[in-house]
Amino acid sequence: MLNLVIFGAPGSGKGTQSEHLTNRYGLFHISTGEVLRDHISRGTELGKIADSYISKGNLIPDELMLKVLEKTLDENPEATANGVIFDGFPRTIPQAEALGEMMKRRGTRIHSVVGLEVPEEELIKRLIHRGKESGRADDNPDTIKTRLDVYHQQTAPLRKYYTDRNTYHAVEGSGDVAKIFNDISKHIDTLDHAD
Ligand code: ATP
Ligand code: MG
Repeated sequence: MLNLVIFGAPGSGKGTQSEHLTNRYGLFHISTGEVLRDHISRGTELGKIADSYISKGNLIPDELMLKVLEKTLDENPEATANGVIFDGFPRTIPQAEALGEMMKRRGTRIHSVVGLEVPEEELIKRLIHRGKESGRADDNPDTIKTRLDVYHQQTAPLRKYYTDRNTYHAVEGSGDVAKIFNDISKHIDTLDHAD
């Protein structure tokens, strides 16, 4: 198995790098943001609840997020057999603790948390630029500010959480996409992931 978390602020490039990693390592990509946006576009009950948080730039409650994540894993036993790349999850300490337990129950663990480190000015530039094309309700200047604040308050502490557990690996996340991918791959190729 190979279970990775791709970690970083909004706009750090988690989605882009996850796509490359999925292809190279045969992993199942779970983007919690995409799962939620899919519910929003289908107008499901969950989508309505999720939209009320996402459009303001806030996180959806842990308990709900955890249920959605576990359901995604349970529904894809074959696709997840080689391992999973978690993109946008965990975003809080309780989510990280629950993820650890979930992996344990499945007889495995998170092998590495790869943190894409990008300067704040660059993040803002990327998100504003993406907002012009993505049509995403949360890629607008006010919401971007909230999302970055939420990231610093609730998500950034995970860096220390995983560093303390010898699981965090920082990668320089600005510059050429292929170079960043190469840096991540070099790190992954050093991992012991027999379990
Ligand atoms: P990137 O641009 O690096 O891919 P992002 O922050 O722009 O990341 P998503 O990861 O797609 O975008 O998340 C969009 C929104 O979905 C979040 O702002 C939040 O409201 C909600 N969300 C996604 N994952 C979680 C989570 N693990 N817990 C709570 N809310 C979440
Ligand atoms: Mg994303």
